[in-house]
Amino acid sequence: MKQGLSRRNLVKGVLTASVVLGFNTITRTWATNATYAEEHAEGALATDFPDFDGQLLTDPDSLNQAAEDFGHIEHKVPQAVLLPASKQDIIKLMRFANQHMIVVSVKGQGFSTAGETLADAGVVIDTSSLNTIQSITNTTLHVDAGARWLDVMPTLLEHQKTLPIVVDFLEITVGGSISVGGFGAQSFKHGAMTDIVESIEIVTGQGQLLQCSAKSNGWLFNAIRAGLGQFGIIVSACFKLEPAFSMARYFQLIYTDFASFSKDNLFLIESNRFDGVQGGVQPSETGGWLFILQATKYYNSDETPDNAALLKDLNYNPDALTVQDMPFLTFLNRLAPIIEYLRSTGLWDYPHPWCPLLIPASKAESFVNQTLQSLKPEDLGGGPILLSGFNHCNMPTPLLRKPDEKHFFYFSLMRNATPPTKERAKELMLLNRDIYESAQQLGGYYYPVGAIPMEQKDWSQHFGRYWRPMKMLKQWMDPKHILNPGRAIFNK
Ligand SMILES: Cc1cc2nc3c(=O)[nH]c(=O)nc-3n(C[C@H](O)[C@H](O)[C@H](O)COP(=O)(O)OP(=O)(O)OC[C@H]3O[C@@H](n4cnc5c(N)ncnc54)[C@H](O)[C@@H]3O)c2cc1C
Repeated sequence: MKQGLSRRNLVKGVLTASVVLGFNTITRTWATNATYAEEHAEGALATDFPDFDGQLLTDPDSLNQAAEDFGHIEHKVPQAVLLPASKQDIIKLMRFANQHMIVVSVKGQGFSTAGETLADAGVVIDTSSLNTIQSITNTTLHVDAGARWLDVMPTLLEHQKTLPIVVDFLEITVGGSISVGGFGAQSFKHGAMTDIVESIEIVTGQGQLLQCSAKSNGWLFNAIRAGLGQFGIIVSACFKLEPAFSMARYFQLIYTDFASFSKDNLFLIESNRFDGVQGGVQPSETGGWLFILQATKYYNSDETPDNAALLKDLNYNPDALTVQDMPFLTFLNRLAPIIEYLRSTGLWDYPHPWCPLLIPASKAESFVNQTLQSLKPEDLGGGPILLSGFNHCNMPTPLLRKPDEKHFFYFSLMRNATPPTKERAKELMLLNRDIYESAQQLGGYYYPVGAIPMEQKDWSQHFGRYWRPMKMLKQWMDPKHILNPGRAIFNK
C-alpha cells in the first residue's frame, strides 16, 4: 500500500513541515517545506532528488526514535528517516546516497544493543513500513523484510503452517533475523533462521536490486545471511514451511550443576525426542546457580505425548519438574508475558550491555562455571542468562561464526545496566570484552547481537577465512562504505 506522501502529493497540498523535499548540496542538509523555496532559488538543491512513494522525515520525534536502539548505549541522531513504501524507494535512496556520499543505516525494530542501526547525521531506513506477507503457499512463505514474526506467525498458523525454526522473541523483524542468524527453541535441530531461508531479495549498497539463493547468486546468499547488513538491504525473503501443530507440551527440568545439565542437553540434541530444547541459568535461592533445561514436544490435540518416554534416562531433579500444555502459538510467543512484565517495571528501558557467546562444548563447563563465579549480581542487573546446546552440523550458514566442534553452547549474559546510565553500560561492556577474550582463546565466538566492543581487527579475526572475500565483496556491493557503518566492520 502506498503512503501517498510523494513530493508530487506534497506540492498538491499535503504539506507537513518535516517531510523532505530536497537535498542541499552545499550545506548537506535536507530541505523541507520551510526552507525549500529559498534553497531552490539559490540553486543549492540536488537536481537528482528522488520522488519517494513513502516518506523521508526530519521531525524531531522520528529523528529521536532512530537515534537509539534497544541497548540505549549509543546515541547518534540521523538527519532523516526513510519510511519506504516500496523497494523502489530503497533503490532510489541508495542511488542518491551514493551520489552524495550520505551514510545510510537499516533498522528493523531496533532491538540491536550497540548502535548498529544508527546513522550519525545520515539516513535511517525504517523497514517497519515494508511489512507485507507477499504469499503463503503449501511449501513457501514470501514476506517483506520489515514484517515482525509476531505478525507473520499467527497468519501462518491460520494456514496450518509453521517454520522449522523461529526466533524466541517474535517482535524481531524478518530482515533483522536474517542479518544476524536467528536462534530459537528449535535451533538445536534446524539451525538458525539463516539456515532455513530459501531465497532473499536485496538492494545493494549501490542501489541494485538482486535475488539470491543457494542456486542463484550463491556467493551473495552466503554474504547476506548473517552478514550484519554490510552488503545490501534485505527487502524480502522466502522460507520453507512445515505443517503446524496445534499444541505444545513444555517441560522445565532443573539441575544443580552444569555437568548434569549439559549431559542431558547434549543427549537431547542427539536423541531428537523433543521439538524444542534450550536452557538458562538462574541464581538459586539457597546460593549458587540452577541450570534449567526447557524441552518442548509439539503435538496435535488428537495425540498425547508420552511423558515417561520423553523423560527417560534424564537426570533432572524430579521434585522440581514442571509440565505445561499450551496452544502452539502461546508457546511460540511465550516471551510475551515476561516482556510485558519487564515493560511494566521499567527494566525494559534500561541500557542492555549484553554478552552473547558461543562456547565449544568441550570447554563449556569450566568457562561457564568460572564466568558465573566471577559474576556479581549487580553486574547482571536482574537480567536472564541463556545457556543452550547447539549442533554445528545443523548450522551451515558460513558467516554465522561458531566453534569448530560438533556441539557448542549459546551462553548469553543479558545484563541490565544498574544504575541505568550509559556510563555504567560502557563499564559493563568492558567486562564483556574480557569475557569475550577468554572465550575466544577457547575457540569461542561472539553472536553479534550484544554489546562487546569490537574493532576492525576483531571483526577480521571473527570472520577468519571469510574476511578477505568479504572485503572484496564490500568493495563491490558498497564501495563507498555508506551502508550500515554502525558496527565499524569495514571502516576505511
Ligand atoms: C528482547 C530481545 C530478545 C531477542 N531474542 C532473540 C532470539 O530469540 N533469537 C535471536 O537470534 N536473537 C534474539 N535477539 C537478538 C535479535 O535477533 C537481533 O538483535 C535482531 O537483529 C534484532 O532484530 P530487529 O528487527 O530489531 O533488527 P534491528 O536491531 O533493527 O537490526 C539488526 C541488524 O540488522 C540490520 N538489519 C535490519 N534489517 C535489515 C534489512 N532489512 N536488511 C539489511 N540489514 C538489516 C541492522 O542494520 C542491524 O545491523 C533478541 C533481542 C532482544 C532485544
